[in-house]
Amino acid sequence: MVDCSSKKICFLTKEMAEEALVENHAKYSHKVGQGPINIYQCHLCNCYHFTSKGEVHPILKDSKTQNRINKLKQGWDWEDKLR
Ligand SMILES: [Zn+2]
Repeated sequence: MVDCSSKKICFLTKEMAEEALVENHAKYSHKVGQGPINIYQCHLCNCYHFTSKGEVHPILKDSKTQNRINKLKQGWDWEDKLR
């Protein structure tokens, strides 16, 4: 992890940032228009950060991603029940 003066989480690659974005949506069940919706490359640290502004990342609109988010949510529900 690289420290950025923007104090945001840094992702070293676009792929890592996209993966984290999907997991973030699964974990926090953001309503439409809330939470991070896209990633961008930072001019300060050259890493990728989440952003809540601008266009929704196409990966979040993808039906395959939606299925994954639902599966991840179900997985986490199970973990809660087993605790
Ligand atoms: Zn940065």
